[in-house]
Amino acid sequence: MGACRRAEEGGELVQVEPRMLVDSHAHIQDKAFARDRDEVLQRAFAGGIDKIVCVGYDIASSEQTVALAETYPDLYAVVGVHPHDARTLDQRAQERLHQLGRHPKVVAIGEIGLDFYRDLSPRDTQRQAFVAQLAVARELGKPVVIHDRDAHQEVLEILRRERGGRNGGIMHCFSGGLPLALDLIKEGFHISFAGPLTFKNARRPVEVAAHLPLERILVETDCPYLAPEPFRGKRNEPLLVKEVARKLAEIRRKPLEEIAYLTARNTRQVLALP
Ligand SMILES: [Zn+2]
Ligand SMILES: [Zn+2]
Repeated sequence: MGACRRAEEGGELVQVEPRMLVDSHAHIQDKAFARDRDEVLQRAFAGGIDKIVCVGYDIASSEQTVALAETYPDLYAVVGVHPHDARTLDQRAQERLHQLGRHPKVVAIGEIGLDFYRDLSPRDTQRQAFVAQLAVARELGKPVVIHDRDAHQEVLEILRRERGGRNGGIMHCFSGGLPLALDLIKEGFHISFAGPLTFKNARRPVEVAAHLPLERILVETDCPYLAPEPFRGKRNEPLLVKEVARKLAEIRRKPLEEIAYLTARNTRQVLALP
């Protein structure tokens, strides 16, 4: 706690080293880490990141994340097909997902959902893939990790209709408003914030983060994308989840260590991590 007090008094937040942050959403299998993946992970674990949740976006990347989880004890896997790749979720892919989902280090199905911003798969295909994967999670009794871009109302309707939150779940990189966040919490979801919370023009995420119950908030990097300030525009990595937590601490006027502890505990609870 000494470090916290120093941070509050001197404004030297940079010196605080919380030991137990969890990055609840990272894409370590991405080719952006092809050359230095092990270094990036060692840097995170040495720098205060306790656990990393590595998320797939298609079958190949889901297989890679399971392989990484087998290699690194503190890395956990989430497997699923992203709405961008919804058209690749055929019968065979769905069976493979089922198989992967039974692996002991697979903690959730994701990232799944709807992306009406980029529309890289037809919307109807996205809806079908989303519902089909919610069913996989239900059959496996696992939580879900949801991607929602410009499809807030429909994502909420589908989650309600399919009871998508029955085993818990995470709305990752949340970009909606406070009423939606509160509705999702009612459906059993946790709300995760990424780098955009730290951006200078961030207004909505800051407002949401200010008002949600702290026991429902998580932090993530979504690396290699969305690097937080002051690293915006660069390649992101799990160590930088600290910057998101730092911003959340500032918004909630709490010591960084407390925010680190709470968000890590929340992630452990929703994903049943040890
Ligand atoms: Zn996403
Ligand atoms: Zn992601």
